[in-house]
Amino acid sequence: MSVKRPFVVCDRNTYKAAGEKAISLLKEAGIDYRLFVYESTPRKMEPDEMAVGSLTMAFDTACDGIIAVGSGVINDCCKVLANKVKLPLSVVATAPSMDGYASSSSSMIRNHIKVSLYVECPHAILCDIDIMKDAPMEMLMAGLGDMLAKYIAICEWRISNLVTGEYYCENIANLMRSSVNKCWNMADRLMTRDPAAVAAVTEGLVLSGIAMSFANISRPASGLEHYFSHLWEMMALARGEECHLHGIQVGVGSVITLHLMDELRKVLPGREQAEKAMSAFSQEVWEEEMRAIFGAIAPAVIADEKTTLINDPLRHAQRLEKILANWPEILRMMEEELPATGEILSKMKALNMPHAPIDLGIDLDETRKAFIGSRVIRDKYLTSTLIWDLGLTQQFADLLKVAY
Ligand SMILES: [Zn+2]
Repeated sequence: MSVKRPFVVCDRNTYKAAGEKAISLLKEAGIDYRLFVYESTPRKMEPDEMAVGSLTMAFDTACDGIIAVGSGVINDCCKVLANKVKLPLSVVATAPSMDGYASSSSSMIRNHIKVSLYVECPHAILCDIDIMKDAPMEMLMAGLGDMLAKYIAICEWRISNLVTGEYYCENIANLMRSSVNKCWNMADRLMTRDPAAVAAVTEGLVLSGIAMSFANISRPASGLEHYFSHLWEMMALARGEECHLHGIQVGVGSVITLHLMDELRKVLPGREQAEKAMSAFSQEVWEEEMRAIFGAIAPAVIADEKTTLINDPLRHAQRLEKILANWPEILRMMEEELPATGEILSKMKALNMPHAPIDLGIDLDETRKAFIGSRVIRDKYLTSTLIWDLGLTQQFADLLKVAY
């Protein structure tokens, strides 16, 4: 890559954290550049049409590359721009707050709805731990929260492989296992901004993006906990409210999912219960429920069901056979992959990290809706799908209060 005139993108904070230094290095090297700094606004910047639009309007077509200086939103927007103008993107990371650095998708908001846009991976990612360790503490916690998801993601991936026959790769799973363990073993050292702990989280987050690119799906890095976060975010957006950092919400979603999995391990699944729930299933009632959960986007969710066939009784019956025949194996997967919920909770508390939905101002009704809605927004086999397959959705929705 021999970029001669990069378009450098920062906001006021990331300019101070790393942009200034990047610019002086470019000057020293005699490389011409164009700088774009997002102005501060009273509201948190969102990765939406407005943010990409201001970038596009400022873009200088004489530039032959893009350098994103920042983390979440700046990366997402620069990926979209780089993809549209077909130029290589490099990233100067400023915070280990999310795992999107190396991923080939951008998490965007289009028309007030969260969407994933498939773009290209960056050509280079620079993570200077001396810069990363000085990121706001909330962002360090967010990175740790996004890493907590990986325990669940790998466990659900294995279960899905067993129940639905979905592709699974042990090598990629191993890559994630060693990363997530390293991060959580050093979690207490994040509080003091220990460079080794910050490096572990940074490396884990970048590797997660690489793992998702290897697998070509989000499986290695995201499971039910991410759906709690996505749905809470959708609900906040619909009310015109700001949401919390992605990784912070994912951390809380992970704790809820761990609670649900703990409860699931106590269950003795029965054919009768599962079949009774399936025969009582009413498409009309379900559509009504979807309208209550998804509001404006409910018609799209309901229409999707025609192709994903998530409510199809025949498919349910096939999955149920697999689940009932392999329940000890599913229990073994949970035993092997999941950390002890109590241990994770005490580490989060020691770090002053939000660990319950109430810490984020999210009430039980929203969490209930997110749990029920998670099964339907994409055709992905999650813990909530497994619970639905067993006819236990209502029972588990009532158990969500344990996370409060
Ligand atoms: Zn994530």
